[in-house]
Amino acid sequence: MLVLVINSGSSSLKYQVRETSTEEVLLSGLVERIGETEVPDHAAALETVDGHLQRVLGDRAIEAVGHRVVHGGERFTAPVLITHEIVREIERLAPLAPLHNPAAALGIRALLDKWPKLPQVAVFDTAFHRTMPEYAWRYAVPDDLYKRHGVRRYGFHGTSHDHVAGRAAALLGIERHRFRAVIAHLGNGASVTAIRDGVSVDTSMGYTPLEGLVMGTRSGDLDASIVTQLVIRGNYTAEEMDRILNKDSGLKGLSGDNDMRSVVESAAAGHDGAELALEVASYRLQKYIGGYHVAVGGAQAIVFTAGIGENSWPFRKRVVDGLGALGVTLDEMSNVERSKEPRVISAAGSAIPVLVVPTDEESEIARATEELARTAR
Ligand code: ADP
Repeated sequence: MLVLVINSGSSSLKYQVRETSTEEVLLSGLVERIGETEVPDHAAALETVDGHLQRVLGDRAIEAVGHRVVHGGERFTAPVLITHEIVREIERLAPLAPLHNPAAALGIRALLDKWPKLPQVAVFDTAFHRTMPEYAWRYAVPDDLYKRHGVRRYGFHGTSHDHVAGRAAALLGIERHRFRAVIAHLGNGASVTAIRDGVSVDTSMGYTPLEGLVMGTRSGDLDASIVTQLVIRGNYTAEEMDRILNKDSGLKGLSGDNDMRSVVESAAAGHDGAELALEVASYRLQKYIGGYHVAVGGAQAIVFTAGIGENSWPFRKRVVDGLGALGVTLDEMSNVERSKEPRVISAAGSAIPVLVVPTDEESEIARATEELARTAR
């Protein structure tokens, strides 16, 4: 089936056309500067995409569309076929994901207007984590905050964690429903997920993607009083704190640079801030791996994925070198190898295999879209 995969941001729209039977990517692209004169809105962006589709596909037609939607709240536990009611629900969840859900809804509406007959599917970043037990998703705050404001942990990157868990289990020859693992998705945003019996039982991102690991520009875990104290006594506004913690913190806050490649290079050249950033980031991840090893009842694999996880061997080495207490050891040669295939990078005697597994959120979205689109026929 020919599936168009759409990832709508507020000012950009990423797309891919995939043939699901062969996993072939026929076309991928990015429309930027939505909201500016040349591309005033998502409908205009879609016209640009349509132009590319016609040039490349000729008379082959798209058969279904899959949309990445960041927040599915408590309602969405799996991908769904989109109706007008579903779009309204995605919009209703906007307070939980103010940057992402309104943009996704705009992209979906533009497509519904243009191709009303085409089956469309929403795939939610949060859905995979709806199997977490309540003790893992509850914050220890008054019940009212949960009931009235939805204050709980949701988790993100679910499509990636799901995809990578499946591939890792297959690589090790373990049945998915018995698989226990710790999966580290390390991109600009980063999160780590505890997999037990093949499903998510805990994850490091929470109410928003701010919680958890040290990321490119996000702080990850911190004491919430930092925010309240700086707003009450430090003359910072809530908006400034939001920006500082989401855009100016993490690797960037500590080293001045948010890109892992540059941070690794600067550290090697003797830059103290870059070295500290790597120490803080790898230590934070080690703590999560240790904690989640316990949460899953003994991991059968520790898995690295996404831009940093797949490509930065120096960062992987820093993390794995600190896991000696778990009996985990790295195979230095395998760790520095470059490959697009899933592979084991731990030494033969390592108590837990360490894997690198490339993620592919688009293929997962295309697969889910095909499955639901078939039921719609
Ligand atoms: P996003 O969350 O935007 O999808 P990615 O998964 O593309 O992010 O990851 C981006 C991160 O991956 C950046 O920190 C970048 O430095 C890092 N990265 C990408 N390629 C490499 C590489 N070859 N070596 C080291 N780090 C890399």
